[in-house]
Amino acid sequence: MKCVRCLHGDAHKVAEAPDGSGAWEVYLCDRCNYSWRSTEEEDVINPEKRDPWFQLDKVDLDTLQIPCPIPPLVK
Ligand SMILES: [Zn+2]
Repeated sequence: MKCVRCLHGDAHKVAEAPDGSGAWEVYLCDRCNYSWRSTEEEDVINPEKRDPWFQLDKVDLDTLQIPCPIPPLVK
């Protein structure tokens, strides 16, 4: 399944409505770790309507910086 953020085919379903109604599903991308619900707005789940600033297609994920480094534990 194609990820809505990085556009690679590494996304898959990780959860669905427990009553079996198909009311919602949750997907996760193993490449960019993005997750989304099937019930979210089009500007979240449709790559053509998403804000390009948030897209990660054509981005080398290994070169991204960590925005908030985790400090070492204080003893
Ligand atoms: Zn992705």
